[in-house]
Amino acid sequence: MARWPRQILFGDVDAMFASAAVVANPSLAGKPVAVGSPPPRGIIAAASYAVRPYGVTSAMPTAQALRLCPDLVLVPPDRPLYERLHSTMRAVTDRFFPICAWTSIDEFYADTTDLQTLHPDPTALGQAVKEAIFEATGLCCTVAVATGKMVAKVAADAHKPDGLAVIQPGTEAAFLAPRPVRSLPGIGPKTAERLDRIGVTLISDLLDQRFEPLLRRMWGKRFPALQALAQGIDHDPVEPDRAQKSLGQETTFDHDTRDVAFLEQTLRGFLSDLTHELRQEGLAAGAFTVKLKDAAFTVTTRQRHFSKPLNYDPAMWPDIRTALRSLIRPGTLYRLAGVSLSELGPATESLFDQRTSKAVAAMDAIIEKHGAKAIRLGGTTEPRD
Ligand SMILES: [Mg+2]
Repeated sequence: MARWPRQILFGDVDAMFASAAVVANPSLAGKPVAVGSPPPRGIIAAASYAVRPYGVTSAMPTAQALRLCPDLVLVPPDRPLYERLHSTMRAVTDRFFPICAWTSIDEFYADTTDLQTLHPDPTALGQAVKEAIFEATGLCCTVAVATGKMVAKVAADAHKPDGLAVIQPGTEAAFLAPRPVRSLPGIGPKTAERLDRIGVTLISDLLDQRFEPLLRRMWGKRFPALQALAQGIDHDPVEPDRAQKSLGQETTFDHDTRDVAFLEQTLRGFLSDLTHELRQEGLAAGAFTVKLKDAAFTVTTRQRHFSKPLNYDPAMWPDIRTALRSLIRPGTLYRLAGVSLSELGPATESLFDQRTSKAVAAMDAIIEKHGAKAIRLGGTTEPRD
């Protein structure tokens, strides 16, 4: 089986809240269950697949749902139950994936690129994940594997419920082409309506030269990004979401920039703030990620390890600057830059010598008093007392 250049697995639990109600009370299985509050003022929070054929949808007044489906079984929301199921599912994804981000209580992305040696067949991997989640929770999860997050999400949406989709590398554009434009993330009902008025209904229409002048007018300089999206080109990284797993800052500039000194200065400032936070928490970072987004909204990142865990910014900056410089493509305009520190662990006393430690403590005292902008240890040289 050919190795994929990049592989993303997306999982989305089917009708999570309604399914959770059935998990908690198996006698509801197969019944027309909906989670919500009672009439006259209540609304439906989540509809099971069993009530969807009646036209019952979430956000609908419960009174109306009961008219459409008189046998409706109304179950009150149960937050603690959802949170319990969520942490059980997290334990499953932690077991499978080194790089995973839960983007909501029932959706996650995992970067499985480096898992291909262990799991060369994405269908088998997807099936194993589905089975593990079902075994642990009783919940059905639709899983899709693609070369990017966006195509994986669209594929999962198209294969619900209890689906498993694998979109092979190189087939992304063909997979997207016949689907309605509103299945693309970022194209809401309003935009879809505006597109419909100019005759653009399918994703393939976004790549049709006949519509290009009108689309260019609508999207302006974001048009190339829209075209990339329509072709399934998407480099957005999976950023692990565990609290305390990383600490980061990023900013979108008022004006796109190609000024390398300005980009360096921005990240240097972030690093100063972040290391102050690390020291306050008594933590050190083993790795960092530099992130840039260019004017066409393409995100590039570079992740590196420090030679040892650090929390003193002048010692960390040379590695980060090197990574930043290697990421910058000459002449490219950038709209966003950021840096994050990861592999956080307790800092040990031996991280810096007593003299440095004293200088750092003095600096932290000033930052506490006057804010992070007040002081910054200059360059990469050791500060003097
Ligand atoms: Mg869901």
